[in-house]
Amino acid sequence: MGERTLSIIKPDGVSKDLIGAVISRLEEEGLKILAMKMIRMTKDEAKGFYKVHEGKPFYESVTDFMSSGPCVIMILEAEDGIRRYRKLMGATNYKEAEKGTIRRDFATDIEKNVVHGSDSRENAEYEINYFFNALEVAGR
Ligand code: ATP
Ligand code: MG
Repeated sequence: MGERTLSIIKPDGVSKDLIGAVISRLEEEGLKILAMKMIRMTKDEAKGFYKVHEGKPFYESVTDFMSSGPCVIMILEAEDGIRRYRKLMGATNYKEAEKGTIRRDFATDIEKNVVHGSDSRENAEYEINYFFNALEVAGR
C-alpha cells in the first residue's frame, strides 16, 4: 500500500473553476483518488483543521478564507505520496514555486494558493480522520 495524504482544493480554486485542472494533474502524476467530497467548513472547523498554526499571525485570516466557500477534499494514495503531491503543489508562496506547479500556474496570493497538502504522515492521518470516516473511503 502506498502512502496516503489529504488534498484540498481551496475556496479560491473552486471559485476559479480549477477543480478539473487540479484533478487532471493529480491523475497525470499517478496520485490515486481514494475518496472525494465537496464541503464548506465553518470557521470553527477551519480552526480545527489548521490547529498546528494556532497563534501564528496568519491563523485568523487563513481560517476566515478556508471557511469562505466550498472546498473539494480528497484522500490521495501513492508511493511517496506526501512528498510527490507537495512537489506538484509548489511552494506556499506562489512567487517562489517552481514552474509547472499548481501554485505557480494558478495561485494569486500567498494565502489564496489553490491547494492544500499534508506535510507529514502524522499530519496526514490527523487530517484524513478529521474529514472522512471509514465508510467514505472507497479504496481501489
Ligand atoms: P497548506 O498547509 O495549505 O498545504 P503549506 O503547507 O504550503 O500550505 P503552511 O505553512 O502549512 O503552508 O500554511 C498554511 C496556509 O496558510 C498556506 O497554504 C497559506 O494559505 C496560509 N499562509 C501561510 N503562510 C502565510 C503567510 N505568511 N501569509 C498569509 N497566509 C499564509
Ligand atoms: Mg501546511
